[in-house]
Amino acid sequence: MSRLSLQPTAWVEEPPRRTPVLGECEVLVVGGGPAGLAAAVAAAQQGADTLLIERYGFLGGMGTAGGVTNFAGLYGRRHGQMQQLVHGVVDELLERIDALGGLNAPQDGMGGRIRVRSYDVAAYKCAADGWLSAHRVRLLFHALACGVQLDGDRIEAVLLQTRSGRVALRARQVIDASGDADIAALSGAAFTLGDGQGEMLYPSTMFRIGEVEPERAQSVVGEFGAIDALMEAAAGRYAFARRGAILRPQRNPRQWRANVTQLRNAAGTAADATNALELSDAEIEGRRQIAEYMRFLRAEVPGFEQAEIAEIAAQVGIRETRRVHCQHMLDAPEVLSGAVFTDSIGLNAWPIEAHVDGAVHWQHFNDADNTFNQLPWRMLVPLAPAPSNLLVAGRCAGMTHLGQSAARASGACFVMGQAAGTAAAMGLQGPLSVEALQSRLKTQGAVLS
Ligand SMILES: Cc1cc2nc3c(=O)[nH]c(=O)nc-3n(C[C@H](O)[C@H](O)[C@H](O)COP(=O)(O)OP(=O)(O)OC[C@H]3O[C@@H](n4cnc5c(N)ncnc54)[C@H](O)[C@@H]3O)c2cc1C
Repeated sequence: MSRLSLQPTAWVEEPPRRTPVLGECEVLVVGGGPAGLAAAVAAAQQGADTLLIERYGFLGGMGTAGGVTNFAGLYGRRHGQMQQLVHGVVDELLERIDALGGLNAPQDGMGGRIRVRSYDVAAYKCAADGWLSAHRVRLLFHALACGVQLDGDRIEAVLLQTRSGRVALRARQVIDASGDADIAALSGAAFTLGDGQGEMLYPSTMFRIGEVEPERAQSVVGEFGAIDALMEAAAGRYAFARRGAILRPQRNPRQWRANVTQLRNAAGTAADATNALELSDAEIEGRRQIAEYMRFLRAEVPGFEQAEIAEIAAQVGIRETRRVHCQHMLDAPEVLSGAVFTDSIGLNAWPIEAHVDGAVHWQHFNDADNTFNQLPWRMLVPLAPAPSNLLVAGRCAGMTHLGQSAARASGACFVMGQAAGTAAAMGLQGPLSVEALQSRLKTQGAVLS
């Protein structure tokens, strides 16, 4: 049996093909994660004929497919008061998940420096379907964007692989919310993979644990990070992939989410989700680590003796791959110092959470009373040679490796998506002014400063 290799020594020639055009839209959003959802709703709110394509059969991105089950970056401190800082179209999604009984009360952690809200995956999926259809966003599931047709400096059509074969979708504006910058990369835009030196934020396979005894578990590992002490005590008996494990209860207190795995490639660096072979191996390794972690929990942690795996995420959770070179690359000093920008489109309220080899490094905002920074419009605008009708939003937008360690959280992705969708729709009418975009975002409830 020959070895699979991405450095081929043989090729096959595919015949030239004519690809049928499936349809047209004004704004095409690629990817249904937090950035894509917000982009599609915002574009549709502005009256654009909007279509979102998604490779899976449901929405939510890493939040559902990757089993994240938790919104971070929506809340932060302003003048010392912890409060929801990210508003806008995301408020409608929160209401819809809540109405389905799937949104947890806010949970504080790290001595009150962070606040998150966990949710039920099924409720998120259902809420997102209803949300997009209420805004008349057209949806095409099970469609993998796999190519672009360029016309000069514009994308004329995006090519999709579907169960009906290869098709094309024509669009006037395209938003790459694929998380991995698939469209930008296919269009020839410049990007950096991870830190540009072979490392990137490590991926994790997320899972949820059922049949936990809530009171006993809470008393032992209730505080964020408290499980680490138990892991250290048991270190010789179990193979832990990393320190900095996150184990927290969901809305149903008998169910906990576990963010404890860490996935390497054969070279010992972060598994690269743009590498087909590494991604495949990472799926297997993630589940192997989960089985090992469950062995530890059942044997060593009070309240988890009868615990069961409730769900393993459909795919490896990917924190970082390609980040597109944009007019502005948000960096760590800007996050930590609470930077302000004249072209602000909204706020990031999550600190730096860098998943490095074997650990998680946190760096908090310099001002403990004001834990947020502004996000500039320019981080959504790719530099040439990217097509002129392409915007990027979400974890693949214009950020440095460390800047992305903060602003990749869902809160900032919703902000970026809302701005990209609004701008794409406004751009259909003529040249876009940043001031006009900002005032439109404010009328949609976004908080820019
Ligand atoms: C393990 C882990 C834990 C995390 N924990 C938290 C947390 O607790 N709180 C928090 O707020 N954030 C957390 N994050 C970060 C957050 O979930 C992501 O950064 C965020 O989901 C990124 O949003 P996005 O829309 O940019 O991309 P994604 O969520 O990755 O969504 C991209 C979407 O595009 C689709 N797609 C990709 N390529 C194509 C293609 N070619 N064609 C069609 N569709 C495509 C994907 O299927 C997906 O639905 C975590 C991330 C990971 C991996």
